Amino acid sequence: MIETLEFTPVYDDITTKFLQNEFARLKDECYVDHAGATLYSDTQIRKVGADLHGSLYANPHSIGIGSSMTQDIIERMRYRILSHFNTTPDEYSVIFTSGATASLKIIAEGFRFKANENNETNRHAGNFVYVQDNHTSVLGMRDVVAARGAEVICLDHNRAFHIFSQHAISPNPDERQNSNSLFVYSAQCNFSGMKYPLEWIGDAHTGALSIVVSEPSTRWYVLLDAAGFVPTNNLDLSIFKPDFVCVSFYKMFGYPTGIGALLVKNSNSDILDKIYYGGGTVDVALSSEMFHKKRQVLHQRFEDGTVSFLSIASLQYGFEILSKLTMDQISRHVFSLAQTLHHSLLTLHHCNGKPVVKLYSDSDYENRSTQGGIVTFNLIRSNGEYVGYMEVVNMAALFKIHLRTGCFCNPGACQRHLSLSTKAILQNYEAGYTCGGTADLINGKPTGALFIYPIKSCGAYEIIDSWNLNAKGLEYDREWMIITSSGTCLTQKHHVNLCLLKPIIFKKQGIMKLTYPGMPTIQISLENIYEKSKEHPICQSRVCESKVQGIDCGSEVSEWLSLALGKPNLRLIRQNHEKQKKGLNKADLSFSNQAQYLVINEASVSWLIDKISDDTDFKKDTSIHRFRGNIIVKGCNAFDELQWEYIRIGNNNFKVNGPCTRCQMICIDQTTGKKTIEPLRTLAEKFHGKLRFGIYLTRLENTQDVLKIGDQIWYS
Ligand SMILES: *Cc1c(COP(=O)(O)O)cnc(C)c1O
Repeated sequence: MIETLEFTPVYDDITTKFLQNEFARLKDECYVDHAGATLYSDTQIRKVGADLHGSLYANPHSIGIGSSMTQDIIERMRYRILSHFNTTPDEYSVIFTSGATASLKIIAEGFRFKANENNETNRHAGNFVYVQDNHTSVLGMRDVVAARGAEVICLDHNRAFHIFSQHAISPNPDERQNSNSLFVYSAQCNFSGMKYPLEWIGDAHTGALSIVVSEPSTRWYVLLDAAGFVPTNNLDLSIFKPDFVCVSFYKMFGYPTGIGALLVKNSNSDILDKIYYGGGTVDVALSSEMFHKKRQVLHQRFEDGTVSFLSIASLQYGFEILSKLTMDQISRHVFSLAQTLHHSLLTLHHCNGKPVVKLYSDSDYENRSTQGGIVTFNLIRSNGEYVGYMEVVNMAALFKIHLRTGCFCNPGACQRHLSLSTKAILQNYEAGYTCGGTADLINGKPTGALFIYPIKSCGAYEIIDSWNLNAKGLEYDREWMIITSSGTCLTQKHHVNLCLLKPIIFKKQGIMKLTYPGMPTIQISLENIYEKSKEHPICQSRVCESKVQGIDCGSEVSEWLSLALGKPNLRLIRQNHEKQKKGLNKADLSFSNQAQYLVINEASVSWLIDKISDDTDFKKDTSIHRFRGNIIVKGCNAFDELQWEYIRIGNNNFKVNGPCTRCQMICIDQTTGKKTIEPLRTLAEKFHGKLRFGIYLTRLENTQDVLKIGDQIWYS
């Protein structure tokens, strides 16, 4: 595909110079999070400063010169806002709020879904209809309106387009309307930048959505979420007339934050109820009796307490820069940028011909009336793996590019574009992916190695490729233990030579071979062919109270062990799967003491080893085995793992139980069985006596699954 990727500038040279001066603080930073927050200009801030410096703004509820100055500027700003949207106070009212979200909340709490509360026969509540791609702040309205009796209906993306494209005006608009219904949608999707048709407003008013509701004789109102649209588009309320519009001003011109508006069409302002009243919203209130009269003027009724009057006074300088640039130029500029970026990303390919970018969009970026200035994408490696967004954002930051990552508070659009099932989203949530969280892929192939320790406290068995997981952990991990005639479990702490006893699992043949230096190899069956032992009361060193019932693996192996380890009457016991005493709410464990899985971060090991001086008899190259981890992760920074709360490896979700507390076991060289003072000495020194290294995990699902070497890891 040969496209001309030249960016066509929208602003002329003078404007470009002006903008360079206004945003000189950016230097060589590249800020492309305009949809997240617009940057305020220098002039704007200078003028705000001068204004506050030279004015006496008193509380607008007081009486006096300072107060009337404040009241004046507030009224002027209402007028200014309305004229920005090409309308007047005759048609719309401005209620100042703390932002778009607060505006949405007013509607959720106040919209009257019942046509006539007093009429006994007419108490049917109407519908709350929203589209899948709505912002989280709209989704939050659902629970409020449902509690108030409204029927909540979600329109998926395609269905919404289908319904509005089919719309024939309702044949009998004079029919008595028994309830009020509200349709909410955003003028521009903050995920993909798609612009929804503003014609839907008129169509909804004339009953286009009546086919999705059970009681079609309802009167329709429209709430337009314009928070994402108005920063880069002209909203002309003389053409399109939603009943309610919500905006946040920092999204339009950066400063001030914490102020937004709800625009309400005057002709139906009586559709909003209000229960709470704060200072400034009542004509009279008695403290001895439950009596008050709310103010008649709409905004006076809804602006509880003292409005953010200094912020309101500052708005004018934001509007000044918008009108200087003009909304039309801003709109064309961001579209041109987005178009160039979109087309450039499309042409990027790896050497093997695979695309570098997966774009999520509903348009081809050729038409400004349906596409705004947002480009949403994932980066892909040449082998098809996705690059985690924390890596992207960190790399971008290195090159001074400020991006927005995540789902942009728009779970519906994110789900639709990424084709995620609802189940997958809930699983991700369980694994710790929260809105705005930093859950991410770790780069590279971090599951560097997998180990199991089939016989508790004995040598490791390294997994070649992949391994099954069961309810207790990695299959066969600490499935067996060696006990003495008195029933206590042998551990390396007292019997260092146990590390030389190495089990090898041959799954296909169904056997485990045991090796020990100087001994012939012996094998036992992986099948449960051995007799159940007479309830051996076995006391483990650390979980003393829990009696573990095991299956004795027979006399042959028993004699072999006794000979190898030089202790009489040793028995090999296998965990009994049928009769496991389950602890309350505790994850199933094998003969391990603490948790199902132990994760060791290779980078943390390297860090520690670097600190150990060379002249000790400590062998550095095999030292990772001293920590006896199950899962060795690669590609992270040292001690990253201490920040993790949840991790996901391949398809498996885990909760982090906490760090693993260490003892002198890490002083045993697992390849020789020799004791050294390192690394315990250095660990204690570096961590001020807190001997922690590695983290324990519990798997969140109890299903059969597999873990593969090279599985990607996400963490949060
Ligand atoms: C930003 C945004 C909101 C929420 O605005 P706040 O300023 O966070 O209250 C709602 N809807 C859309 C489409 C947005 O872009």
